[in-house]
Amino acid sequence: MATIKAIEGRTASEINPGCSGQVIVDLCSVVKELVENSLDAGATSVDVRFKNQGLESIEVQDNGDGISPQNYETLALKHHTSKLATYSDLTTLQTFGFRGEALSSLCALSHFSVTTCMAADAPKGTKLDFEVSGKLKGTSVVAAQKGTTVSVENLFNNLPVRRRELERNIKREWSRVIGVLGQYACIQTGVKFSVSQQAGKGKKTSLFSTKGNKTTRENIVNVFGAKTLTALVPMDLKLKLEPTSGPSQRWSTQEDGGQKDIRIVGHISRPASGEGRTTPDRQMFFVNARPCGLPQVAKAFNEVYKAYNGSQSPFIFANIELDTHLYDVNVSPDKRTIMLHDQTRMLENLKEALVFLFDSQDYTVPISQLP
Ligand code: ADP
Ligand code: MG
Repeated sequence: MATIKAIEGRTASEINPGCSGQVIVDLCSVVKELVENSLDAGATSVDVRFKNQGLESIEVQDNGDGISPQNYETLALKHHTSKLATYSDLTTLQTFGFRGEALSSLCALSHFSVTTCMAADAPKGTKLDFEVSGKLKGTSVVAAQKGTTVSVENLFNNLPVRRRELERNIKREWSRVIGVLGQYACIQTGVKFSVSQQAGKGKKTSLFSTKGNKTTRENIVNVFGAKTLTALVPMDLKLKLEPTSGPSQRWSTQEDGGQKDIRIVGHISRPASGEGRTTPDRQMFFVNARPCGLPQVAKAFNEVYKAYNGSQSPFIFANIELDTHLYDVNVSPDKRTIMLHDQTRMLENLKEALVFLFDSQDYTVPISQLP
């Protein structure tokens, strides 16, 4: 995904009055914002490196477009973005980012630097250092390949209470971080992800990596292992939403481009081969490939599954594909909360489609003999 175009002299808050709030609230949000920036820059390789589970540093290196020198000065200023050209773009949002808040927040909350290189300049890149305010402090020429590396050291060091909280909760926070990275690594086909961690002065260990696969199926194997995949059935649910009167009328309008279908594509545990308990990192939901927390959708999946297997939970990997007019992403600062229009009817349809999927499977085939 390439950037739309640079906006001149306008900030995202001018263009997008709904933009406010903190995007960097914990370690997980740092990782998410940096990875999304790499994907927005069209990266096909994203390398995420942690020192001491991110308490010491988080580095994200990509091979994306790089940053143009004309954007150096404004890069980390609040509400500067190169991704949003007009307010109406919000309804057809193609990029993950659009608020221009992540880098400016990171300047204020960590020791922050960026090294970037556009294709034409390789192997020479530019290292950018920033003041806490986000103002560019200085640049230096360094050796670099095409792409951008963002480095965040000592997160929250200037906010002792927040820092202590992070250290206290690091175990829980770390498993969330790995869970979220697994979601991006699984959903993004054609992107090589690698995630590594170095504890203390110890050796760097690889946590997982994907190979730039063409399918999410292969990504799941890379992240969760081949054994996980054999217990899953592929899912491709097509939900038809008939236009009715009342609040749902919007389905039938021309503005929606006549689109009335939702497709849910992914993988789910076979009823006979669920998992011990529900772990959030093994139930993943996406809306048009954007990782999302969708508790109501999760509930619907789990409810149906329970009718087939009362003692276990399913592994779920579900990407909801639908027209961008049919949901709002501009709901929470982290963009993980998404409002699906007409969710109640969608969930009814989803449950029916799942029952149909499970009923139509031949579960007499032992897992070991599955293709
Ligand atoms: P947003 O993503 O909402 O635009 P950010 O604060 O995350 O805001 O980033 C600010 C700007 O910095 C982006 O609009 C983009 O132009 C640039 N940028 C950030 N990270 C990268 C990257 N990895 N590669 C290229 N450009 C980047
Ligand atoms: Mg961003």
